[in-house]
Amino acid sequence: MSESLDNMYRDIILDHYRSPRGRKPLNKSDITSNGVNPSCGDEISIEVELDDGMVKDVHVDCRGCAISVASGSILAEVIKGKPLAEVKRIAQMVRRVLKGEQMDIPDELGDLDALQGVRYFPVRIKCALLAWLTLMEGIKNHENGHGDVRTIVSTEDGE
Ligand code: ZN
Repeated sequence: MSESLDNMYRDIILDHYRSPRGRKPLNKSDITSNGVNPSCGDEISIEVELDDGMVKDVHVDCRGCAISVASGSILAEVIKGKPLAEVKRIAQMVRRVLKGEQMDIPDELGDLDALQGVRYFPVRIKCALLAWLTLMEGIKNHENGHGDVRTIVSTEDGE
């Protein structure tokens, strides 16, 4: 990775860390999910409000390191306004990218690209994954009709 790309990724991550998106509480939530990353101590709570199969709004509350907070913030920014089916595809893509697969992230997904830099720092991969695993678990519960059940997702479960 070139140094300028490295710096660009770092600037994006720090920007999201300093002013995380999606902090506004929702009036109602259709999907609720909590996650923890024991290896770093990161904790996240995600709520999603749906409207006709689209993500109308999203609330992310993450307490943890810069990477985990930035990843949650990027998630909030990227999934808002998208159909749930597309959100699932994006979450799967992020998971594969963080696990080292070479993929081109479409330009319209904006800052998601910055998470690619994280895979060069293996100890931070779970921090970046946390938000996305937590979201995927929440969507799964929602699809199984358990949208209001709060499960705690751990990055230590299932590789
Ligand atoms: Zn972390």
